[in-house]
Amino acid sequence: ETFLAIEGVTKSFSGTQVIKGVDLSLGKGEFVSFLGPSGCGKTTVLRMVAGFETPTSGRILIGGEEVTHLKPQQRKIGMVFQAYALFPNMNVADNIGFGLKVAGVPRDEAKKRVGEMLDLIGLPQLAERYAFELSGGQQQRVALARALAPRPRMLLLDEPLSALDAKIRVSLRDQIRQIQRELGITTIFVTHDQEEALSISDRIVVMNAGAVEQVGAPFEIYNSPATPFVAGFVGTLNTIPAVVAEPARREVTIGGTTLAVPTLPENLERGARVALALRPEAVRLAAGEPGEVAIDGTVRQVSFLGSVIRLGVEVAGGTVSLDRFNDRRTAPPQVGEKLKIGFAPADIVSVTRP
Ligand code: ADP
Ligand code: MG
Repeated sequence: ETFLAIEGVTKSFSGTQVIKGVDLSLGKGEFVSFLGPSGCGKTTVLRMVAGFETPTSGRILIGGEEVTHLKPQQRKIGMVFQAYALFPNMNVADNIGFGLKVAGVPRDEAKKRVGEMLDLIGLPQLAERYAFELSGGQQQRVALARALAPRPRMLLLDEPLSALDAKIRVSLRDQIRQIQRELGITTIFVTHDQEEALSISDRIVVMNAGAVEQVGAPFEIYNSPATPFVAGFVGTLNTIPAVVAEPARREVTIGGTTLAVPTLPENLERGARVALALRPEAVRLAAGEPGEVAIDGTVRQVSFLGSVIRLGVEVAGGTVSLDRFNDRRTAPPQVGEKLKIGFAPADIVSVTRP
């Protein structure tokens, strides 16, 4: 049961195509993030869904109804922007009630709705406060309440947290998700922050240069990136330099160790240099486990982070980062110490030519 459908949508600005054909469908109640680097087109797609931009080609449907050419106010969509979108000289209650007034909701009903929204965002005591007196996090909660007050059928959030401090960002993203679940409202959340997208989404749409690279649950996107771009943009990667030894058997050497890499591309010649990419948690201190290859390394950096100790280990001319739990009984390795790192070749996320 598709709720929002984006079908073959493109967008050009003065002859330059910035959205190159996006197809996407969202189910009712789904929380989907658009994730990608700055300038990849996230806001433009969101603005086309909201009705602030018209697609150059393609269609947008909400609840089965085509809305491609409807005005924003006809679409019944709530939107929250990065920051500074409240009316600074209006109090909180009037800010939240603004859309209701515009829509001609009777005063008693509007007052009741504003009260409900204040409770929903946990700020009932701030109803009379002016917007300019609020912290950034409070302002964004009020902006969310203002967007939700008219009971929109979809919620669009364009980097609503990116102007906030790290700590508030985390607590507010959890609150947004909780409120979204409570209301069951279909939501698109735009962010360039991969951790943010991974932590709150039902599904993530990874975008790059005006196109969709991959759509999937956070678990899928992180563990099975469909393209090198996704592998590099979502999560962090260790890259280990290797040299192709026996192309037919997909064998490479790292330092003096030879191993078979299941995902090695077939068209490489002997002696070609490649970079093997692994998630940090896939690399550990070698323990001689079955299926594990062990590679000689030298500790170059030791950072004590409390619950974990992060090591920078030089391997075959590259540096890999790996975390070891702080088990309290074993002293951390020392800079200059020689050790072996271990990983399973099946955990190699991608193989690229450097
Ligand atoms: P993102 O939100 O992912 O950072 P945007 O959707 O804002 O990306 O922008 C995508 C591309 O479209 C950028 O290259 C941007 O410069 C361009 N762009 C966006 N809006 C306009 C506009 N109104 N006129 C011309 N170019 C635009
Ligand atoms: Mg943007």
